[in-house]
Amino acid sequence: MIRSIETILVDVPTIRPHKLSVATMNTQTLVLVRVQCEDGIEGWGEATTIGGLNYGDESPESVKVNIDTHIAPLLIGQEARNVAATMARVRKVIQGNRFAKCALETALLDAQARRLGIPLSELLGGRLRDALPVAWTLASGDTARDIAEAESMLEQRRHRIFKLKIGLRPVADDVKHVLAIKKALGDAVSVRVDVNQAWSELDAVNGIAALQDGGVDLIEQPVRAENRAGLARLARQFAVPVMADEALHGPLSAFEFAKDADADVFAVKIAQSGGLIPAKQVADIAQLAGIGLYGGTMLEGAVGTAASAHVFATFGELAFGTELFGPLLLTEEILVEPLQYRDFMLQVPTKPGLGIDIDRDKLATLRRK
Ligand SMILES: [Mg+2]
Repeated sequence: MIRSIETILVDVPTIRPHKLSVATMNTQTLVLVRVQCEDGIEGWGEATTIGGLNYGDESPESVKVNIDTHIAPLLIGQEARNVAATMARVRKVIQGNRFAKCALETALLDAQARRLGIPLSELLGGRLRDALPVAWTLASGDTARDIAEAESMLEQRRHRIFKLKIGLRPVADDVKHVLAIKKALGDAVSVRVDVNQAWSELDAVNGIAALQDGGVDLIEQPVRAENRAGLARLARQFAVPVMADEALHGPLSAFEFAKDADADVFAVKIAQSGGLIPAKQVADIAQLAGIGLYGGTMLEGAVGTAASAHVFATFGELAFGTELFGPLLLTEEILVEPLQYRDFMLQVPTKPGLGIDIDRDKLATLRRK
């Protein structure tokens, strides 16, 4: 039986300013959910988002209020083993709140996998890979600093895929910045851009043409999320793959995109999808439609990153890798043993459940009072 549900906010400074077209982040607020069961087993989930309400329609504080006030009372006293039935009930009576639902589903599945003594990925159908390629996001906004940061990552063998956050400056300035970095890093590394919806379709036509010529190999969400037709036209016009990110809000939106192949690649995010099982459905839809897969992040800390890793490890196809670097952007570690990044890959945990242990003392110090 589910005994208690606690939603914890944790403010952690980032290692450097993280500049997106929608916000500049100096701190990340982790939203952690702890579910305790009568049999002594507990599970953890995460509902972290980016830049308060700049990125999406759930904020750390709204997630906490909605779980504590509206969702937790539905779950307390329910049988903890019946995760599917419990989540079906939540999805039936609670509208929206995808991040909150994802955190709860993660915590319930973590607890159940621990109970069964198997890694979470096995509960999700079974893992097809033990390690995931991880991109790094260059988002200082300064060309020389970004190049130095990328070179250091290559030297440490931590990342060889680099994603640049652009869209804040005029298109010509952004193109110059990206192509200077691509030229400095050479052909052995993958350089990609994420515009975070900042361009008009005309900006995108000009920008993508120049980026494609310069060897950039992936264009993420160039236009507004609502503009599916525009994204589709760009995907058809250019050989360089165009990826949908903010436009994807779970299986139904994935199906809308997949029907007419309106994107070349999907950024699958567990929170944006509304949970681990819906994220798997998004991936299934993509694979059936011949759309490529990329494992996205909401810059979650270790809990959401481990959960995402277990989900992505079950994907048959993962041609564009992942961006599960969230914990590396934070100045504080909340696990007893940090997640393992080596040889350009994140190692998917192998212990039962999420396969991680929260450092209780650290959490007690860091949590918002
Ligand atoms: Mg993105």
